[in-house]
Amino acid sequence: MPVTRADMPKLVLCNMGVEGQNTLAGATARGAYSRIAKALAMAPAAVTDEVKKSNLRGRGGAGFPTGLKWTFIPKGAQTVYLVVNADESEPGTCKDREILFWDPHLVIEGIFLASYALGCRHAYLYIRGEMMREHHVLQRAVAEAYKAGWLGRDHACAGGGSFKLDLTVHRGAGAYICGEETALLNSLEGRRGWPRLKPPFPAVKGVWGQPTIVNNVETLANVPAIIEKGGEWFAGLGTPKSGGTRILGISGHVNKPGVYELPMGIPLREVIYDVCGGIRGGRALKGVIPGGSSMPILTPDEIDVPMEFDALMTDARIKPVEIRPGVKLDIGGGKQLRTMAGSGGVMVMDETTDMAMVCWRIMKFYAHESCGQCTPCREGTGWLERVTRRLAHGEGRPGDVELAESIASGIAGNTICPLGDAAAWPMLAFATKFRAELQSKITAAPATAHGAA
Ligand code: SF4
Repeated sequence: MPVTRADMPKLVLCNMGVEGQNTLAGATARGAYSRIAKALAMAPAAVTDEVKKSNLRGRGGAGFPTGLKWTFIPKGAQTVYLVVNADESEPGTCKDREILFWDPHLVIEGIFLASYALGCRHAYLYIRGEMMREHHVLQRAVAEAYKAGWLGRDHACAGGGSFKLDLTVHRGAGAYICGEETALLNSLEGRRGWPRLKPPFPAVKGVWGQPTIVNNVETLANVPAIIEKGGEWFAGLGTPKSGGTRILGISGHVNKPGVYELPMGIPLREVIYDVCGGIRGGRALKGVIPGGSSMPILTPDEIDVPMEFDALMTDARIKPVEIRPGVKLDIGGGKQLRTMAGSGGVMVMDETTDMAMVCWRIMKFYAHESCGQCTPCREGTGWLERVTRRLAHGEGRPGDVELAESIASGIAGNTICPLGDAAAWPMLAFATKFRAELQSKITAAPATAHGAA
């Protein structure tokens, strides 16, 4: 049974809102770096095993099991890198910046523990360029960790030998696509931030051509608790396949928006009406995006769903999204496209929201952020932006909703990186769940053969 809100320990945000305690002294008082000695007394593979046992899943969006990912490093690899993805840029997502600001040493300790498990001697943290405040705090924390000897100095290991880690913080320049792990690696190397074709996957050929693990900030901030209390304890906090807690950043039309650390699997209804105090002004709920703008929207009758990785994709209470009558889109593993937990960015919209406008705003974002490398995304996101712009401004043409669906289904699954899906999935969900509202925006004459999009 997952823990309730009353008995849930705060693993990652225990210092949130406590001013002046994100220094080394404050973090040490909370136990920072105390797990390192325990890890160094273990074999690196035992640290990985503990993380596997914990059911920790990546918090960046995909929810892939972290310990399993670590085992993908080829055996005998001489040079291994850990790259921390702090390029948090999915609209609606604002959790990693809070972790970095309030507890940077917890993240550094997590990086140390993961690096030890992986055999990484030099880790990189790639932080979004706009995060000035967090970058400043993080750089200070890295300098403190070097001065205190946690970084840059040899630590004796129980089995003989020693382990030393260096950590470099690298600022990005604000491109959304650099949050995609292979684009991030290119950017880190000083190249254009274009996603790479996979395979090879980063675990085999990543930064500087060497085996590389890319992990999210929240993911690594959970590792110290796993080492301290054990993988089974951590797994016991969550649902059967997702261990630990979950941090959600809730924005939009709720009374108490904010970043909250909550039990894994808490029902979305409880998040909105209890944690966040309900809809502002007592209005009715119209829709919720549960995990960043690329995740398909949910309607009010779909919010009795546990906020964890599998339920949002497969919960039987959520109606499957059909691209068109009888045609459903798979997003892998035979699962129907419903929605996903994504990056924990929950966006709540009340009854006054113009869904055509929301849909256009999302399409505009992805059209702007497409790197242009592959045709379905480069052309398709622009077409979607133009079609939804017409709808949003009450200038839709007959057939525009079907046209948008057709474009989106041509993009989904046909691109180098997930940005294409990130535009296509929400488009298909809006067209299915708010079809009547989109259709109501159609006022113009039928499109000509040369002006369809
Ligand atoms: Fe670039 Fe879009 Fe292709 Fe990704 S899907 S590589 S963002 S063009």
